[in-house]
Amino acid sequence: MGINYVSTRDASKQQITASQAILKGLADDGGLYVPTSIPTLDVSLEKLSEMTYQEVAYEVLKLFLTDFTEDELKHCINSAYDSKFDTEEIAPLVYADGAYYLELFHGSTIAFKDMALSILPHLMITSARKNNIKNDIVILTATSGDTGKAALAGFADVEGTRIVVFYPKNGVSAIQERQMVTQKGANTHVVGIKGNFDQAQTGVKQMFNDKALEKELDAAGFQFSSANSINIGRLVPQIAYYVYAYAKLLSEGKVQSGETINVVVPTGNFGNILAAYYAKNMGLPIDKLVCASNENKVLYDFFTTGEYDKNREFILTNSPSMDILISSNLERLIYHIAGDDAKKNSELMESLKTTGKYEITSDMKAKLESFYGNYASEEETGETIKNLYNKTGYIIDTHTGVASCVYNKFKADTQDDKVTVIASTASPFKFTRAVMGAIDSAYESEEDFVLVDKLSELGKVAVPNAIEEIRSAEVRHDTVVEVADMCAEVKRFLGI
Ligand SMILES: *Cc1c(COP(=O)(O)O)cnc(C)c1O
Repeated sequence: MGINYVSTRDASKQQITASQAILKGLADDGGLYVPTSIPTLDVSLEKLSEMTYQEVAYEVLKLFLTDFTEDELKHCINSAYDSKFDTEEIAPLVYADGAYYLELFHGSTIAFKDMALSILPHLMITSARKNNIKNDIVILTATSGDTGKAALAGFADVEGTRIVVFYPKNGVSAIQERQMVTQKGANTHVVGIKGNFDQAQTGVKQMFNDKALEKELDAAGFQFSSANSINIGRLVPQIAYYVYAYAKLLSEGKVQSGETINVVVPTGNFGNILAAYYAKNMGLPIDKLVCASNENKVLYDFFTTGEYDKNREFILTNSPSMDILISSNLERLIYHIAGDDAKKNSELMESLKTTGKYEITSDMKAKLESFYGNYASEEETGETIKNLYNKTGYIIDTHTGVASCVYNKFKADTQDDKVTVIASTASPFKFTRAVMGAIDSAYESEEDFVLVDKLSELGKVAVPNAIEEIRSAEVRHDTVVEVADMCAEVKRFLGI
């Protein structure tokens, strides 16, 4: 049976194929594409436990992207998960202090966004070919730091594509910014905005929904698509690593077949944890989905009260990729727990737009029982990084630190001692200053690249290529614009 996709806001449930959904990114009505049903894994866990990362990815992707041929999918997978990753395992599991850290940062930009963004360009080009698209695809992306670089790296010099990335000028780490502004590739454009991530994301969404702009672009031979985590072409590849992690635990004898595990995910836009939710619904033995937030704890409040309320102060933290007040992918979960009800979902999203909040029904809340939400303050996160290092020598980044801290709270709250996988979403080298400052405040006065070398020494891990590269790379992008000028900047870059 083929899986098609519908918008979370379309009550008439008009279906499109996976490749069409990948090309469109966001639906015309502002909704997100969701599968018409969630497929069940059709190979045994034992079989999966003998497979490579690429083979597991195929078993997951083939179930969701049913209008792709086997050859097409295998070509996309093998082009993505290759020597761009610095380990053949692609996503290794590291045990430290009672939990398994699933290291999702071994790709070219050392953050978990690479897991999806190394394959998305291939899925998109394949989708364009399948649908006889003649226009160049313009990828428009808002980033809180990591998506931008991973998307730039994925799309740089990919024929038939352009990519424009907007980031909050004062809202990303120094290393994140340097990684982006040194990006090579004639088809790339990086723009700082005088605003925060939510404003960047809203600006991008407005361009996607602008019909007049769409016509103008089409006349000039362009069409927009999205590399943000709202694109199902990003979501689906993320399901694969949860399946892989379970398979790995099984092959190493850490779990018995069918034994349930918990998954802890440091969450911002709700893409990564939604992928875990889909994995669970495909039959992967996951019990609790632990949603970890930083001080921007809108999701913790949502899981506790059933009310989503973004009317609050926006806090800049040391885990900037989680500094988000509107978690876009939550809309998909809302749609599902409403019983795939687009009308109900639209009402709630309209309320979010006009009042900044909404409240789910008690029936919907009951369907959130597999989720546990909590948050970590900046201080608690720093303490967690330091304690884990002192105890085990293992150094985690600030986002993973939030997750690790929330896992400790979860255990204390619930006494749950199931085998647990913590999604480790960035290399500590990407947030060197904050990580080293947490381990010892004496490091705070040192230069960034001095700290990089110290981190390598302390953690006994080599400095990743992604960091070595930017030590000396030239700055190629220095555009900064007002939020109101984002659209004009895109047109200028495209020459229209
Ligand atoms: C993007 C990102 C997150 C948040 O992931 P979502 O899918 O947006 O919830 C967490 N940590 C890091 C390092 C990230 O780059």
